[in-house]
Amino acid sequence: MDRNIYGYKCGACGHINYPYRMRCRKCGRTEYTDFELVPLPKRGKLLTHTRLHNPPADYLVPTLQLGIVELENGVRVMGQLHMSNPMAGMPVEAKVEVVRRTDYDSFYGMIFYPA
Ligand SMILES: [Zn+2]
Repeated sequence: MDRNIYGYKCGACGHINYPYRMRCRKCGRTEYTDFELVPLPKRGKLLTHTRLHNPPADYLVPTLQLGIVELENGVRVMGQLHMSNPMAGMPVEAKVEVVRRTDYDSFYGMIFYPA
């Protein structure tokens, strides 16, 4: 089964907030029981990227290639890039995979590949 990362759709204005906040970024609503979980799309466009050296050890890799991606619904997310030559504007597609592991927990996030 495919895993998903979820956004929080405001019951008042329909704006999809990500990551979770106590207040809608668009209309300011604070009734958090009114936010509906919606799976974020996996496809989008890479806006910008960078490489982080010496991330904390539980990130499982010696360097982290990170990007900001605008998903098909306009939501912008940050995720790891698994590709040799990232370029701003290129189409990408995410898989939800383990990005960090501690002794007790595994943390999932979006990892982007060339689409
Ligand atoms: Zn709203």
